[in-house]
Amino acid sequence: MVSATQSAVSSAKVMQPSSLSADSVLNFARGDPTMYRAYWEKLGDRCTVVISGKDLMSYFSDAGNLCWFLMPELDRAIRRLHRAVGNAEVGEDQFIVVGTGSTQLFQAALYALTHTDQPDDEALPTSVVAAAPFYSSYPEETDFQRSKLYKWAGDAYSYEGEGPYIEVVTSPNNPDGAIREAVVNREGGKLIHDLAYYWPQYTPITRKADHDIMLFTFSKATGHAGTRIGWAVVKDKEIAMKMVKFMELSSIGVSRESQLRAAKILEVISEDCLNPEPNKVVNFFEYGQVIMSERWEKLREAVKASGAFSLPKYTQNFCIFTGKDTDSNPAFAWVKSKEGLNCDNLLREHKIVTRGGKNFGVCPSYTRISMLSPDEEFNLFVERLAAIKGSTTTNGSTY
Ligand code: PMP
Repeated sequence: MVSATQSAVSSAKVMQPSSLSADSVLNFARGDPTMYRAYWEKLGDRCTVVISGKDLMSYFSDAGNLCWFLMPELDRAIRRLHRAVGNAEVGEDQFIVVGTGSTQLFQAALYALTHTDQPDDEALPTSVVAAAPFYSSYPEETDFQRSKLYKWAGDAYSYEGEGPYIEVVTSPNNPDGAIREAVVNREGGKLIHDLAYYWPQYTPITRKADHDIMLFTFSKATGHAGTRIGWAVVKDKEIAMKMVKFMELSSIGVSRESQLRAAKILEVISEDCLNPEPNKVVNFFEYGQVIMSERWEKLREAVKASGAFSLPKYTQNFCIFTGKDTDSNPAFAWVKSKEGLNCDNLLREHKIVTRGGKNFGVCPSYTRISMLSPDEEFNLFVERLAAIKGSTTTNGSTY
């Protein structure tokens, strides 16, 4: 039976004319969240922001605030949304630092955790680790400036260094959707929690996250990757101040136009979550949850029909946002070739471009596939996947 939410979601889908053919190359290597467009189209002008030529000219958003370039509207909208969803603790004593995407905030956090006022030229750079498979951008983002403050040290599971280190804990994890905790747990360790995917459309919200540095991104929360807004929720004032310093030096703040747009959209989501009305479109997270679970169902069917691949298995959990037992529906599928073949190469032969396991610190029999592409591309992808037959296997078991 089709639920009320499912039918409300179907009515939010907008059919686009087909531009794909059997020869089209499908690029699933990036997690560009364009599939949410249909929802925002349905909301029409509710999220429109009008900015005139005279507006927002100053560098400053809130000169008296620790994060002086953070728009008060965005600060309020972020705190309200976290309270509505219940996914993070955002008390009045926690600082919000806004960034140009959470990519900039990750680097700001590395700087803040390692910078000292009296530099020691003999000191070794602090090691930065994450448990494999880890988000493929961390190594490059950590090392591209060849900082004397920090350096990438690889897989947290095999980290044996002594002295201070930073562990990045990504939960749910990119690429495999796993719920994670720190693995090194040694004295002198500092943590950055990257919670880009800790939203109800991807995973059950089981508790309010409450860590020293939590990174979130507008890109994955709502699909507005191009607005380039991320935020950090930070407990320690000194760390928050250093992160602000990093922003000052790298970009003298963050676009105020982007912040206003983000604030508007986050407010609309909170309003719809907190005050649902029978004739309104369902709230964004309910919509996202239905769409994602439909996609995962289709993917699992295709994997079963093929027999050449396997997928991770996730357990259901009680979600405090929906008040129900809920499945995980990660933003990426972490696919394994059952025959131990190079999975990325195998899929490329079928015109499906993915990001291979080596980028994430593991072997090439794994590859990562974005689950956030437009409907038409996703449907063609599952069709192609189902048609790839393994030579020795017949069913789509899970690992
Ligand atoms: N962290 C993780 C785990 C991500 O997957 C991404 C986006 N792929 C980011 C951070 C960066 O997000 P943003 O678009 O805000 O820079």
